[in-house]
Amino acid sequence: MTIRVAIAGARGKMGKEAVHTVMNHAEMELVSVLDYKKVGDTLADTKLFPSDFTAPIYIDLEQLNAETKPDVLIDLTTPEFVYEHTKQALELNVRPVVGTTGFSDEQLEELKALSKESKIGCIIAPNFAIGAVLMMKFAEQAAKYLPDIEIIEMHHDQKLDAPSGTAMKTAHLISQQRPIHEQGHVHEKEILEGARGANYDGMRIHSVRLPGLVAHQQVLLGGEGQMLTLRHDSFNRGSFMSGVILSIQTVMEKEELIYGLEHIID
Ligand code: NAP
Repeated sequence: MTIRVAIAGARGKMGKEAVHTVMNHAEMELVSVLDYKKVGDTLADTKLFPSDFTAPIYIDLEQLNAETKPDVLIDLTTPEFVYEHTKQALELNVRPVVGTTGFSDEQLEELKALSKESKIGCIIAPNFAIGAVLMMKFAEQAAKYLPDIEIIEMHHDQKLDAPSGTAMKTAHLISQQRPIHEQGHVHEKEILEGARGANYDGMRIHSVRLPGLVAHQQVLLGGEGQMLTLRHDSFNRGSFMSGVILSIQTVMEKEELIYGLEHIID
């Protein structure tokens, strides 16, 4: 069976990569693209893609759905729009595969309920890179034994949200394995605000934004006389595409929302 795929954010860095990935997959068809401004009638009109990339562009998801009937909507847009897109897709019985980060916990809970009620699968993956997902799993495992932890995430300087979705997800997984406790000296004082990073249940998260970076994260786990460092680097956006393909295939078989690729890889 061919899976009919629509992409929101196709002109972006991740979106462009996803367009090529879907176009080159034998069991998938790119049926349409969702944009938010008039950039041409088809992908080829944007001049960002070859002339035979003729998927039509819509600015209205309802119309896109009525005319091109996608099974799956991939969202690679911005934190500002992703919640609305995901909610609307679920209401239209289109399965969302979401790579955009920046959901609040309340939004995730709402989408979880909506997906369960409508029995329409949805996969939200803060990180599509399989190596990054393994890093999160290993950090969760190690936190039981080395519960004093700091996370350093590093991304390109065009990223809109901080900390990254991956860092938030890592902290969430770790927090289920270690008792909540403040780290560092009890009388610790920040001479410069923010020096100790964000505080997630006592764990510190530091966000670095620099040109040249793609997506990188270190989890530092300190113990008496020792430190374990877990590090993952995405050097280019190709690193995310095997996770995108796996998510598209898996979401077709699901009837609920799955948050994080770690729940679909063994
Ligand atoms: P990007 O290059 O800025 O691409 C975003 C694209 O979305 C832009 O072309 C933008 O158009 C378009 N857009 C904005 N609002 C839209 C809307 N309402 N409808 C349709 N298109 C819209 O960013 P990126 O680096 O590709 O990243 C996209 C998202 O994926 C970010 O949230 C990023 O954090 C996330 N990401 C996830 C992973 C993962 O593994 N899950 C990996 C990397 C990045 P304009 O430029 O014209 O506004």
